[in-house]
Amino acid sequence: MRKEWKTLIVAIFIGSVCIGAVSAQGSLVSDYPELKPLVDFVGEEEISVMDLVGYKAAEKAMEELGFSKGDPNILALTDAGYIANIDKYSTERALNGLMMAAGVSQGKGNLVNVHRAYNKPLWFAFFDKETGDCIYLEVNKSYLKSWLDREAAGSVNLSAFMEVGADALFSKISRENIDPDRLITEEGAKAWHHNFEEKTFGGNEFSIITISAVWSKGISNEFLRSAELHNHICPGLTSGYFIAEYLKKHYPLEKGEQWVVWAVPPWCKDDALQQILDATVGKRCMAVMYIPGNISKKLPPEYKNIAGIYVKIGKTGEAKAIVLGWDWDKACSDCGITRKDFKDFSSYKWWWTRLRADVMLMEHEPEEYISVLMEKDLGNQGSIKEMNAKWMAVGANPLVELGIMPPENTATPKTPEKTHSIPVTCVIAAIAIASVLAIVRKNMRK
Ligand SMILES: [Zn+2]
Repeated sequence: MRKEWKTLIVAIFIGSVCIGAVSAQGSLVSDYPELKPLVDFVGEEEISVMDLVGYKAAEKAMEELGFSKGDPNILALTDAGYIANIDKYSTERALNGLMMAAGVSQGKGNLVNVHRAYNKPLWFAFFDKETGDCIYLEVNKSYLKSWLDREAAGSVNLSAFMEVGADALFSKISRENIDPDRLITEEGAKAWHHNFEEKTFGGNEFSIITISAVWSKGISNEFLRSAELHNHICPGLTSGYFIAEYLKKHYPLEKGEQWVVWAVPPWCKDDALQQILDATVGKRCMAVMYIPGNISKKLPPEYKNIAGIYVKIGKTGEAKAIVLGWDWDKACSDCGITRKDFKDFSSYKWWWTRLRADVMLMEHEPEEYISVLMEKDLGNQGSIKEMNAKWMAVGANPLVELGIMPPENTATPKTPEKTHSIPVTCVIAAIAIASVLAIVRKNMRK
């Protein structure tokens, strides 16, 4: 009998624990009615600590900046889920809380999911384009991890998590005015520069101010998605966005055609091109080759501004190469900046010149800076893989093959079809023999 009593007591205990756990979730909405839209969205059984992290970040920002849900002047930026992790825990669910609390979304164009490596801190930023104010919240990793550990062990109380103060959950909360109209002036940039030195936005200052600035002036979805991948906007990324626009307009794709980008040389542009054209490295639609100084010297002047080779290839393998140029000197002069200041990392100039160009280039058209340096039919290249393996192979030089620069005088490997080495050797040998014979004959006459 005693044994049966024990079993009954254990059963009652387990039952009460289960009921307790369910009612803790159930009571979350009765404790916090404002969570109803979030709980409805993710499901009562699914609501988690990470959903609430995004909610609490938005709630704090709304309180500090004084905006309400769905305010069209607000841009939210975060690396949640793309792909900042908290130790072994992923963070994408924070986006649910953020969207439901602040009323922002990628669909509305006012949520930017900034790409960062898996080991980077989890952060949120909110920008109000009406006032220029921006608030940055960086999550306290070890503190949040302790809650996630409890959740993984099945012993978390979400109502208790809702009680956590912002000062405990976030290791950094900072607020600054980032009004782009002020920051693109040299005086404004000088006055703001201390925020870079002090890492006011946790080292994400450049990402936050550049994306917010271009967004506030009106940004296309394609450019915004490129900015997410690249994690900032710089004139290099703008050049890639402009090149994509240029190709779409002047070389529209026919059915079955696609772009293969030979990034010769690569720069920020190629992240926009991968995103917009889906010309990704992994799918072999982008191949990268650098142009070192000793090669650059040999390029004709009109090719000094070379901004990549764009190959349009059809299903049957027929390919056409378009070599484009990008006029940095004109871009800098139109934006009222000096090109060498891009490299001045000892002052405000490196970021000020980029931010100013970001904003000012939006007033211009791709045709003002892009030129077609060459168009060449490549004939039938078989497949993309075969074409890349030939033109962009180790040791190959597509600039020589396209006739843009003279061949190296040393034994530079060439693409398979064009091995002139044997005839050239014969000619050299013939000239050498003829010269020796001439000298011998001359000496004999003496
Ligand atoms: Zn860049």
